[in-house]
Amino acid sequence: MITDFGIGDRVLMRKKHACGGSEWEITRNGADIRIKCLSCGRSVMLDRLVFMRAAKKVTFSANGAAASIEESPKAGESDEENHNGSPS
Ligand SMILES: [Zn+2]
Repeated sequence: MITDFGIGDRVLMRKKHACGGSEWEITRNGADIRIKCLSCGRSVMLDRLVFMRAAKKVTFSANGAAASIEESPKAGESDEENHNGSPS
């Protein structure tokens, strides 16, 4: 059972979908929850409580995950070019 979720989150369900996939993305959050199967793209609408019980865990949180990715790749790059040659 999960209690914390929002639109764009990905969840692992206890039961596999007919297509064999078990990961879903939440596309609507309210009294009813709509989830989309990430394997076959089908959408299913579930009662909120039914969904919470059927879900095993959140595998990706759209809210919390994106913050720390951007800074590192650029740091090393420009430095190395300057070490090599001074054009004077
Ligand atoms: Zn499916």
